[in-house]
Amino acid sequence: MAACNNFVPSVWKKDQICCDCFKTKEEHSTSGIKCSTHAESQLPPAYEQSTIQASPQLMNIVDTQEHTGANDRGQSANSTPSPFARKTSLLQRNRTLLVPTDTPVANPRQTLTDQVTSSPSTVSEKETQSKTDVAQLIPCRYGMACYRQNPLHFEKYSHPPGFTHHQKSSQVPQLQQQLDVNATIIADLQQQLKDHKEKQNQENTQLQQELKRREKIIEQRFQESITNLQNKTEYYEKEIEKLRADKLKMAIHTQGLEKALTLELEEREKRELEKKRILAIRRDTPSYWGPNAFVTPYREVKIPSSSPEFNIVSHLMNSNIERHDNNFGTIYGKDPTEFIVTRVIRIQNDKLWHEYCFKKESIIQKNDGKIRDLACSKYLQTYPMATPLLDSLSNEYWLFHGCAEKTLYDLSHNGYDPRVSSLDGMFGGGFYLAENSSKSNQYIMCPGCKKNSIFTGSGCLCKNQENLEFMMVLYRAVLGDVHIAAKYQASTYRGEGARKVRRAPLKDNNIDIYDSVLGEKQTLGGNKLRYREVILYEPGQAYPEYLIVYKRSANRAHAPTDAERALQKCYYFLKNTFRKMPD
Ligand SMILES: [Zn+2]
Ligand SMILES: [Zn+2]
Ligand SMILES: [Zn+2]
Repeated sequence: MAACNNFVPSVWKKDQICCDCFKTKEEHSTSGIKCSTHAESQLPPAYEQSTIQASPQLMNIVDTQEHTGANDRGQSANSTPSPFARKTSLLQRNRTLLVPTDTPVANPRQTLTDQVTSSPSTVSEKETQSKTDVAQLIPCRYGMACYRQNPLHFEKYSHPPGFTHHQKSSQVPQLQQQLDVNATIIADLQQQLKDHKEKQNQENTQLQQELKRREKIIEQRFQESITNLQNKTEYYEKEIEKLRADKLKMAIHTQGLEKALTLELEEREKRELEKKRILAIRRDTPSYWGPNAFVTPYREVKIPSSSPEFNIVSHLMNSNIERHDNNFGTIYGKDPTEFIVTRVIRIQNDKLWHEYCFKKESIIQKNDGKIRDLACSKYLQTYPMATPLLDSLSNEYWLFHGCAEKTLYDLSHNGYDPRVSSLDGMFGGGFYLAENSSKSNQYIMCPGCKKNSIFTGSGCLCKNQENLEFMMVLYRAVLGDVHIAAKYQASTYRGEGARKVRRAPLKDNNIDIYDSVLGEKQTLGGNKLRYREVILYEPGQAYPEYLIVYKRSANRAHAPTDAERALQKCYYFLKNTFRKMPD
């Protein structure tokens, strides 16, 4: 018997098992065991039919083999029929094979079906049925020597009692095992699927919850923002209301401001005008000069002796008489004790007056209008001048000036001129004034002998000296910031050699100069002068207001006794000591 040719090794898949002999590829071709597939004569026709019907795949393989003819042992390569013819012949062969050779008792398939569908209620019944089945099966012609392995064979054919069917295939347990493994895998997979589904469900639930939560949050936020917007709208509406109210207020306020501004502007204009009026050089003449003071550029007005003006000048002349004891300006060799004013002439010089007013104003402005607050002004409040203060804004005083009669014309018409002043004066080249009429009197010479003055020397022997008339000038003088010269130094105030002084000294800041100098008298701490004198260095700073014509008299004079002189000395000493004490 030949080996099984059912499977061509080239198309036999690995681990594939022959459906007939249940052998693997290796076992199959080499074992030499005859395979029933090709032992047609020995096989029952029913078996053949079932085998072919159950394995259409095998038929295809056979068909392919026959078609290619590569390993076909039954057909010659030369006489290969058409595929259609081959198939037809195969079908015909199968049809002939379907005709059973044995006498069929019953349809075995039907019997099997009956056997499966029938449900025996007891074991005895089952045994009975089994015996009946065995009785119905076709007896296997191999008997005890049956080697068939196909289970279908044992369903169709009966075997003698005691026949044992040996399961030769070792693949079954393996397959069973594989099946178990597969079942386990399937179970695992099913479990995994279940787990996965559960997980998915959980996740879905979570997602839905999360979604709901977020929806809630969004809704909340939306609500909040709506509320906020509503609040804001309300707030802005209120603000708008406020702004409207403010606008109204502002409009009212603006109107008020405009009114106030107009008033302020008017007020300012008024003030400016006033200021201009104030700043304008005050050229007003003293009221006692009367109207039309300057109908002519120069006038000499004789003051009636009965007028208060005359009396004031006369009183001024006589209230400042001091002892000099130096034989100048004497009457019969004695210091006059009285000046008998015979005439007072007011000089109304337009040009000089305006020059004076201009100078006065410039000094006020130069001192920022603060002359009243200056140290010199305070000093002069404490130690006043003998003559009255006419204007505290400029430190304007009435002061006396005595000189030669021929000079008077020049002084009254052209004004004094420091440029031609003698540089030999104690305070250099300036215009000298005195608070004491008696001091100025010493500079006026005798009209007869031209003596009896500081400039011309002493010793007048003229007769009728009580009838001699002298002329003195009463000046209005602006002292401004006056330098009080207590400690006299010739080098400082007069100058030395070619460098003679022609101006007031510098102030402490070494930039500005004083407006005037006051030589302090000994009784007030001076170290040189017995009586005060004032020096001006610039023209126009004094105006010759009155020409005073007077006679000297010593009738009221008396020679001081020694006791009087001692008392006077004591008085000076005490005054000086007291004044120096705070230092
Ligand atoms: Zn085989
Ligand atoms: Zn058998
Ligand atoms: Zn004389």
